[in-house]
Amino acid sequence: MPRADSASERIVYLTGGVGGSRFLSGLVRRVSPNQLCIVVNTADDRDFFGLHVSPDLDTVVYRLSGVVSGEGWGVQGDTFFCLEQISKLGEEAWFRLGDKDLAMHILRAKLLRQGLPLRSVTERLAKRFGIPWRILPMSDDPVETWIRTKEHGWVHFQEYLVKYLSVPSVLDVRYRGIRAARATQEVLEELERASLVIIGPSNPITSIGPILALRGVKPLLRALNKPVVAVSPLIGGRPVKGPLDKLFLSVGLEPGSLAVASRYRAFLRGIVIDQADRSDAEALAKNGLQVLVADTLMRTQEDADLLAGATLSFARGLSALPNCSSKTA
Ligand code: GDP
Repeated sequence: MPRADSASERIVYLTGGVGGSRFLSGLVRRVSPNQLCIVVNTADDRDFFGLHVSPDLDTVVYRLSGVVSGEGWGVQGDTFFCLEQISKLGEEAWFRLGDKDLAMHILRAKLLRQGLPLRSVTERLAKRFGIPWRILPMSDDPVETWIRTKEHGWVHFQEYLVKYLSVPSVLDVRYRGIRAARATQEVLEELERASLVIIGPSNPITSIGPILALRGVKPLLRALNKPVVAVSPLIGGRPVKGPLDKLFLSVGLEPGSLAVASRYRAFLRGIVIDQADRSDAEALAKNGLQVLVADTLMRTQEDADLLAGATLSFARGLSALPNCSSKTA
């Protein structure tokens, strides 16, 4: 529930799609709309059949408007007749674009064609879904995560994830377009005035990595004299879903809480890890981090509510920057 005494608090939440939006569904029940700004990765974006598909923005919008499917992405009860027809007509149709989902992509493409930047398109679409929270794409500029695989060479991250089901071995990861891209002015301003930054249990390499790689973002986080807290997307050192363990190995890191923390080392003050990883708490504390050990698996809305509530209390408690120690929720 929103707290009356935290009315001036400004929380910036950095997120990707499925994991990050699960946590977000709990967070939005704890803070009022004007206290929260959601910054979303757009390096998963890709053009399909002339439509600009933005998987993480879509997942966040579907989650917050209550229409997300049980799988955590796409629209509940969607059908795939259009995609089936496209496939019958001889086109590759590996990316799961549902019929209802297509409405989002068609409208986004229409607004982009009218010359609106992605941030304005996102604002309009979120409003139409009845979402009161501020959702900001990390950038208006194109950035794409590409994966170099042993078996297929360089492939777009969505191709790796959806077409190849994350099976190929990962040799390298690149954010194409990142040097030329700029974080939007809105994102930079929100980070400047944040009283708390929460990094969701999103993939640190493919979801949070591109946001942090945008010019100006890391220096702002480093200079921010306010708590920055991350929730680990690993449980027992393994991702709940997706290829994060493989991706960590490809950049020379052993998958685990320490690897997650190391990606955020420059600015992180606290980390939330799962009970299954409690043995990492001491090493994390030795690295100067405050640690909250909690149940981080979000199977239900109640799980997300509890985790978001515990994370918020933990993060708020760090504002005074006490000495390093670990806590258990
Ligand atoms: P994507 O952009 O759709 O890949 O979504 P994210 O990057 O936001 O989320 C992917 C990450 O979410 C994966 O690394 C998962 O391990 C993590 N994840 C998914 N569900 C949960 C959960 O219930 N708890 C935790 N701790 N992590 C989760």
